Amino acid sequence: MEFTKRARSVAPSLTLALTAKTAELKEKGVPVITFGVGEPDFNTPQEIVNAGKTALDLGHTKYTAASGTPLLKKAICQKLLADNGLKYGEKQIVVSNGAKHSLYNCMQILVEEGDEVIIPSPYWLTYPELVRMCGGVCVYVQCLPQNGFIMNAQDLRKAITPKTKVLLLNSPNNPTGAVYSKEQLEEIVRVLKDYPDIWVVSDEIYEKLIYEGNKHYSVAQLGLYDRTIIVNGMSKAYAMTGWRIGYCACPDNKCASLMAGLQSHQTSNPNSSAQYASAAALSGKQGFIEDMRAVFDQRRLLMLEKLSSIKCIKAIHAKGAFYVMIDVSATFGKSVEGKIIDSANTFSALLLEHFYVVTIPCEDFGAPRFVRLSYATNKENITEGLDRLSKFIDKIK
Ligand code: PLP
Repeated sequence: MEFTKRARSVAPSLTLALTAKTAELKEKGVPVITFGVGEPDFNTPQEIVNAGKTALDLGHTKYTAASGTPLLKKAICQKLLADNGLKYGEKQIVVSNGAKHSLYNCMQILVEEGDEVIIPSPYWLTYPELVRMCGGVCVYVQCLPQNGFIMNAQDLRKAITPKTKVLLLNSPNNPTGAVYSKEQLEEIVRVLKDYPDIWVVSDEIYEKLIYEGNKHYSVAQLGLYDRTIIVNGMSKAYAMTGWRIGYCACPDNKCASLMAGLQSHQTSNPNSSAQYASAAALSGKQGFIEDMRAVFDQRRLLMLEKLSSIKCIKAIHAKGAFYVMIDVSATFGKSVEGKIIDSANTFSALLLEHFYVVTIPCEDFGAPRFVRLSYATNKENITEGLDRLSKFIDKIK
């Protein structure tokens, strides 16, 4: 009995597996501190929760249009205009079960067997799997720590071949925290202007989590509207990870209707009450986002400051999202109680084993010398967890 090559070739999500392992350890009473989290540790704001409850009470418990309710699409169009200066009609929007699903839909409508998808590396570990599920081939462009993990436009040019179909951009970036400036994106746009057949899928899910006065830009604002699909969602900006609402803003109605048609057979509509809650989130008061961002910023600074005094590791100065990457390669070849640290994977495993601190090794993110720390946790945990990390480093011989 053989299962498909497609299913067998997909690596299960490491981050979700580690989340499950952390929960298991906590249940056993182990005093785990986790820097593994990929979601805000805030509750969904009460007004949004209430809007979801009201929707249920009003009987919005049935199928909606497969691509989302007109109410939510309208709110998304208003958001794109107000925040990004981008004009979209409701027929250009497809609402899905989270941005991950939206990204999958993009690959489904754009990538033919053997098409190449350029992915700046490091990257969110889900991207390559989505590309492969659709028969595509990943082409990675290495982004260097000394350039703040921003993709060099000339490196992009070198990676383009006649088979290139999509560039997958992600700013602010998971896992690096890199935020592309307007000028950096304009350089990318200049390269792509020479290749009119290449699409851009722009994952902007961390748009609202940017620090140090940096601003978010989308390539759709910078001359590539006609071939960019913007992917965004409710998870990170509104602390709504479990509600599962993401969306695509497509360059035209045809692109959106193809995606909607696909989704109509795949999942039908996303959860109806969650759509009502999302519409309320987008059109309600936005103060929550800034309050949350300010808290993340304080934690980011605390984490960077504490990391700077730990020997043997080097932290990347993250400017967006809620992650800091640390270069742990100086520990490779050394050992802890006789066990050799031969990779970021082993580093993370030994840190968990000896000091109960969960971190995400970045092999699957295209950064094998790095480990990712999330600061979606409170200051006490950050202080305690980094004290433990420091003790772990002291133990390495
Ligand atoms: N894109 C990036 C870069 C992410 O890190 C994540 C989640 O961690 C997503 C998309 C997916 O978010 P959603 O919860 O909307 O599926």
